[in-house]
Amino acid sequence: MKTILKTEITIKDICNGFTYNELEWKWLFGLFGKLTIQPEYQRNYIYADGKKDVAVIESILKWYPLWLIYFNKTDKDKFEVLDWQQRITSIGRYVTWKFAIKDENGMEQYFSGIASDKQNKILETKLLIYECEWTESEIKEWFKTINIAGVPLNHQELLNAVYSGPFITLCKAEFSNSQNANIQKWGAYISGTALRQDFLERALDWVSKWNIGDYMSFHRNDTNITELKNYFNSVIDWVSTVFIDVENEMKWLEWWRLYETYHNTPYNPTDISSKVKKLYWDSYIKNRKWIFEFILGWEVDTKLLEVRVFDDATKKTIYQKQTEWAKNKNESNCPLCAIWHDSNKTKIWNLNEMDADHVTAWSKWWATDNKNCQMLCKTHNRAKGNK
Ligand SMILES: [Zn+2]
Repeated sequence: MKTILKTEITIKDICNGFTYNELEWKWLFGLFGKLTIQPEYQRNYIYADGKKDVAVIESILKWYPLWLIYFNKTDKDKFEVLDWQQRITSIGRYVTWKFAIKDENGMEQYFSGIASDKQNKILETKLLIYECEWTESEIKEWFKTINIAGVPLNHQELLNAVYSGPFITLCKAEFSNSQNANIQKWGAYISGTALRQDFLERALDWVSKWNIGDYMSFHRNDTNITELKNYFNSVIDWVSTVFIDVENEMKWLEWWRLYETYHNTPYNPTDISSKVKKLYWDSYIKNRKWIFEFILGWEVDTKLLEVRVFDDATKKTIYQKQTEWAKNKNESNCPLCAIWHDSNKTKIWNLNEMDADHVTAWSKWWATDNKNCQMLCKTHNRAKGNK
């Protein structure tokens, strides 16, 4: 591991030969063409949010200390930015008039519009640069231990860095490209954004059955992503065919698992749609996320739905009705005690000795409203629940 500290390189040098491709977000060069600012293991440029971009320039104008920059020497006179890529891109974009910042009077100013002493101040700023000659594994180790440019690498970005190569380049062109026309469709079933690699992560997650690292390592030098793309599209196409309505909760499902389990089962999408709607209307369902799996499994596994218990007001109302009725008939206010010939046949239980029960099993699609509530003594309620 060889490292040299350079202190004489200025922002002007870095920006010399700077090219920024708005569409590709990559292959930006600087330092007289010797420096690749965005090597392929780097993440997409995510500073262009109008805030971080500006903060970088302001910190230079205010003489804030600048962070250490790491370059990796890849060849004689060839370098790649290891860290600081986001900030260097911000500086390059500013100097090439891609965005403006507010001056002390609150006026938006492009680089061309600011006073020449300020322009010079930016251009003549010297950077602290560590020039490294590291092996691939040293770089990977380093990536694992640092956060880049204040925005921590998320899991997939880290994997992209570690398994850089032709495969990941193709992956990013497909799944991390915000120009891809499919993004809107994917966004219905997957949460996140293309830029932060969320679609790519999910595609890899699905095809690898949760073994992303192994899969990326194995396919690292592949020159096609056919398997990944086909599997991802099969899952997405299947979901969008079976469920014709898009619901927000769909974004957090393990669709590959449902696809594997159910994609050979025929469904009627119109039926499915009305079932989804019915369950969405049921305010007693705690977690709507599970509705889809419940329906795919022919509405058998009611545990998936975590039906909400009846509230206290409902319990009290039902208790009063039931008790009044039971007293008139000289029976127990627990309907199950009343039909059994035991000592509790006529027992009137207190409210705190009883629990609410769904008269009809919830799986029969009965609404969980007052009509479906009955109070049972705790013993009978427990017995019924265990069935
Ligand atoms: Zn009872």
